[in-house]
Amino acid sequence: MKIYFDHNATTPVRAEVKELITQMLGEVGNAASIHGYGRAAQHYVEQARRSLAATLDVDANQVIFNSGATEGNNTVIKYFAQKTDGRGRILVSSIEHPSVIHCGVNVETIPVSSAGVVDLNQFEAMMGAGDAPLLVSVMLVNNETGVIQPVAEIAKIAKKYGSLVHCDAVQAYGRMAVTRHDLGVDYMTLSAHKIGGLQGVGALIIAPRVEVPILLHGGGQERRQRAGTSNVMGIAGFGRAAQLAVENLGHMGQLALWRDQIEGELKSCASVSVVGDGADRVGNTSLIAVEGQESDVLMMRFDLEGVAVSTGSACSSGSSQKSHVLHAMGLDDSRVPQGFVRISLGHTTTPDEVAQFIKIAQKILAKK
Ligand code: PMP
Repeated sequence: MKIYFDHNATTPVRAEVKELITQMLGEVGNAASIHGYGRAAQHYVEQARRSLAATLDVDANQVIFNSGATEGNNTVIKYFAQKTDGRGRILVSSIEHPSVIHCGVNVETIPVSSAGVVDLNQFEAMMGAGDAPLLVSVMLVNNETGVIQPVAEIAKIAKKYGSLVHCDAVQAYGRMAVTRHDLGVDYMTLSAHKIGGLQGVGALIIAPRVEVPILLHGGGQERRQRAGTSNVMGIAGFGRAAQLAVENLGHMGQLALWRDQIEGELKSCASVSVVGDGADRVGNTSLIAVEGQESDVLMMRFDLEGVAVSTGSACSSGSSQKSHVLHAMGLDDSRVPQGFVRISLGHTTTPDEVAQFIKIAQKILAKK
């Protein structure tokens, strides 16, 4: 039995999305063309925009489709940096995805606690030290630990200083209730492939009456807010996946139970601890620290058993560099060497997979 427990890296495409896209493969049309074929393509795009908007409680015109969250994050951060020739302050949490923290502009990083939660006191102190920041960017759920960040509180503090707020909600959307309004943020980034849609498509959500950051210039697509031929199949699939993910949010409770079961079993058989234990976490993610082991070796041993897990950050994988998230949490220089395994469950996870995974993990992690 092969087991895919790496849903934070990417998720299997949902059956309903596959069905829709298979049908669309037989059709033609550029959504910007004004003939019938083009209008039919544009119809798919607008339907998806309405679906996505409904799940987030925003108006359809607040949704801008793009190529994914890397683009969404780059769009917002770079736009505000360039607008002020790099002079405006941009504050981001120290555990952001590389597409926020390393997108080529100067940012100031907000520290997190050892449980991986943004430190609100230090954040407020940074806000008050110097000019009011132009932009604050904090993710809702960290991709490596699953730890939920106090974004609504952060937005409230930022607003006192007149700063704009951006939230990378990629790992939260479809895994917990998310609305732009409840978070109080101005910009929100989403990605289709984390919720059962296709890779290479995402959306930037914009609050009413705020400046629209633009990265790509050219054609007039997306109401002149994001140039480039619309990825009609990707967008249509995203709309369908969004609807299904949000309708099935209740399933996250089941995933959380399985995740807790896995953590309980592993803690009893090996010298393991759960990173971010004690903080609020999204239900599908577990980052396990294993004493005396190396992350890459652990990941490969799981792979040899047909189990896909991650060493933490699949986004920067290929390199065995230490994770900046663990570094920010002060976990990478522990006196006892430890390896990290990220387990992330999702919409295809079954009880049989959970039981089989526990057996395999017990074998791999057993105390020597
Ligand atoms: N932000 C977070 C938190 C992510 O987990 C990812 C994907 N690993 C991204 C941004 C980038 O998303 P995309 O793959 O759509 O570019």
